[in-house]
Amino acid sequence: MSYTKKNTLRAEILVVDDTPSNLGLLFKILGKNGYKIRPVTSGQAALEVALISPPDLILLDILMPDMTGYEVCQKLKIDPQTRDIPIIFVSGLSEGLDKAKAFQVGAADYVTKPFQVQEILARVNNQIMILSQKQQLEREVLQRQQTEAALRSQYQREQTLNRMIQAIRNSLDLPAIFSTTVTAIGNLVEARWVGIMEYLPNQEIWQLVEQYLPTTLSPTAQRQEIFPTENFLAAQLEQLQAFCLDKVNQATDSLNLLQEQYSKICLPIPIYLDERVWGSLCIVRHQSYPWTESDLQLIGVITDQLAIAIQQSKLYQQLEQANKELERLAHLDGLTHVANRRKLDQVLQQEWRRLQREHSPLSLILCDIDNFKGYNDALGHLAGDYCLQQVASTISRCLKRPADLVARYGGDEFAILLPNTTLTGAMQVAELVRAEIQQLELPSPQSQSQGCITLSLGVSSLIPTPEKQPEELFTIADKALYQAKKQGRDRAMNYYLPISSTANS
Ligand code: GH3
Ligand code: MG
Repeated sequence: MSYTKKNTLRAEILVVDDTPSNLGLLFKILGKNGYKIRPVTSGQAALEVALISPPDLILLDILMPDMTGYEVCQKLKIDPQTRDIPIIFVSGLSEGLDKAKAFQVGAADYVTKPFQVQEILARVNNQIMILSQKQQLEREVLQRQQTEAALRSQYQREQTLNRMIQAIRNSLDLPAIFSTTVTAIGNLVEARWVGIMEYLPNQEIWQLVEQYLPTTLSPTAQRQEIFPTENFLAAQLEQLQAFCLDKVNQATDSLNLLQEQYSKICLPIPIYLDERVWGSLCIVRHQSYPWTESDLQLIGVITDQLAIAIQQSKLYQQLEQANKELERLAHLDGLTHVANRRKLDQVLQQEWRRLQREHSPLSLILCDIDNFKGYNDALGHLAGDYCLQQVASTISRCLKRPADLVARYGGDEFAILLPNTTLTGAMQVAELVRAEIQQLELPSPQSQSQGCITLSLGVSSLIPTPEKQPEELFTIADKALYQAKKQGRDRAMNYYLPISSTANS
């Protein structure tokens, strides 16, 4: 039996002959051999039948009353719908010229009447075989084209996926990662909506942190598309929240159920962090695109990467926080919690450069506790430490401008840096500090001043210039401090002019 027409039905042959006996004979021979025959007796009828339901092969007489077989053939070969149907001329004309004309107008073969049964069968079988091989070839070409297209799309997907993973890995900026992810997924799976939702356990709500809408949708279309979806998602995710908090397994079951029920529209994928549901990646696609296994795999990979990125970003934030704390501690004096010497040096350099540009004065006060060694000896080191803390916090309280800085300079010595402050201003601050320390009335058995802890202060001030060095400030303040000590302690002095002293001095 000969099959064509998608290789499952019997091959159909349109037989055209104005002589009924010829038709009957061909009908009998071909029908016996498994072909399905459609007989017509005129050229016009042949054209109509061929157009309505194209046969696999046409056997065509040449001499017919309404039009010749040549004309029929020509018309069939012009029409794209019928031009590929092979035609065998079956004619009593046996001249070489007749045959040549038949091939000229597009015949596939030619049989002379009266024909031998075996010959007509062989020629028909031959054409049907060529036809089925051609169809097979076309199917293979189509299949190959489809495979190529699938491979191309797979390759493009992988490329996009790699680019996205790269972008996710190279960034610690979560908003940027979310935005890249939703856009890439949206494009990859031709989604109508992609959303990343974070579950906030304290408020028990799902918060939309990023979403994607294809730019091809008009604003009205977006609204129509999104609102039912959001409601749907919100309702479904609310059901989830009970499971998300502590029962991760049940959350997964519930999500599986959701995926089964709504697999055609919405795909909610949980994002786990430390075995807890951090949130969900939701993808909405049009009903006419059901999710495929490869879609799910792809999205699974993306979700895993997303979870890693969130984890990394959180760790990075913690690390940054820890680094800031370390940085803060690295600049603090452990005992008194005011700035340490390293911080003082850093600020001094900055202010020196700034005030040099501004041509504005920078002042320094060096403060040293009087007879502190004796205080330690008499009351012990713990009391000494406490005293240092009190002195530090008292000095801090005396400084009012944000740029003022107090630092522990070493031992029982503190440095106060006062940017944009003249010598007169600095002397006023020094006097205030001295008076406040005195007011503390920390009992000091060895003190010469009413038995309380006192401070001596040396003040310096200058306008920084490229020729001067910051160390000059210290040299001058140190000399002033030496003078203050020498002249009886509990006083603030600058190198040139003492403006304040106690009653004792
Ligand atoms: P002066 O009035 O001349 O400054 O006499 P002084 O006894 O204060 O002499 P000096 O400033 O040289 O003594 C500093 C003393 O401060 C030495 C040490 O016993 C004490 N000291 C330094 N660092 C600390 C500390 O961290 N804790 C305590 N408790 N004492 C300290
Ligand atoms: Mg001292």
